[in-house]
Amino acid sequence: MNDHILGLLPDEIEKRLYTIGEKRFRKNQVLNWIYNNHEIDFYKMSTLSQSLREKLSTKFENFLPEIIKVDISRDGTKKFLLSLVDDNRIEMVLIPNKEKNTLCISSQVGCARNCGFCATASMGLIRNLEVYEILSQVFLAIKELKEKKLTNIVFMGMGEPLDNLKNVIKAVRILQDKQCFSFSSRRIIISTCGIIPKLKELADNGLKIKLAVSLNSAIQEKREQLMPVCKKYPLTELKNALLDFRKKTAFHITFEYVMIKDFNIGQEDTKALLKFLGDISCKLNVIKWNEVSSMPFKSPSEAEVAEFIHGMENSSFAVTYRKSRGWDINAACGQLAGNY
Ligand code: SF4
Repeated sequence: MNDHILGLLPDEIEKRLYTIGEKRFRKNQVLNWIYNNHEIDFYKMSTLSQSLREKLSTKFENFLPEIIKVDISRDGTKKFLLSLVDDNRIEMVLIPNKEKNTLCISSQVGCARNCGFCATASMGLIRNLEVYEILSQVFLAIKELKEKKLTNIVFMGMGEPLDNLKNVIKAVRILQDKQCFSFSSRRIIISTCGIIPKLKELADNGLKIKLAVSLNSAIQEKREQLMPVCKKYPLTELKNALLDFRKKTAFHITFEYVMIKDFNIGQEDTKALLKFLGDISCKLNVIKWNEVSSMPFKSPSEAEVAEFIHGMENSSFAVTYRKSRGWDINAACGQLAGNY
């Protein structure tokens, strides 16, 4: 199979054009069609000569995943089920807001990390997504939005992005490239469960992105129960890796905390959180657990949420209570499972 055009950086496209006898500047015309006119069908690139269109179609792949199903939530959130070239399926979620449109994308088919609160975990890991498969989600969302602008990308869909780091890094480079998707580094968030060696690799890579860490408990034993990754990469080591990451990169770290009734929102949980986060330049997003019928956890009441947040009133970090979006279509945090 040829390289897919969405998985290539501009200079890689330029080199390939050169090998088929085309002038290097043709790259600009092709990129303009893809990223400004959102046209990926070479035969519809009407300003290119017929022979160039034919050459492009023999040199590059340009197929897109098929949209199998779209579920629309009462709050406007849309969940897309996509079929990949090998019939594997992934989900992406488009979350519209007044001033921004956020796309939550997948980085793997399934996931190996087995977090206890996550529906994707039940699939196990099937495979990593290729760069073009990660970016096809963005391309499809831009087309879907038509005249509205896609403003934010979050790697919080299916999969652990740091387990597919090489492809995720290249995808981010293409997302940020001025001739390609041209997203600002402030508008891209990579979320991780805390794979320490990969966090170090990401920090050393110099890639500018925002980092979110799915924390869910600052107590070692509890976090191990929820997130097996914590057995291999304990909280103390995670904290050191994050302090190091913070030193090497410009942005605050965001911690995500799924609140589960009678499990991680008591006084000892608050105390542990205040200690763990107190000296990290960060913010904390808390979100209510979205009940999934196959899982034992329960969602807390609003009063329980208020009490938990009140306990962190004088903390050094900001606490934001994020309302879940798309819960009625299983598109909310922890609910993506590709309809497997
Ligand atoms: S929460 Fe993320 S890392 Fe954990 S199993 Fe789900 S997709 Fe994987």
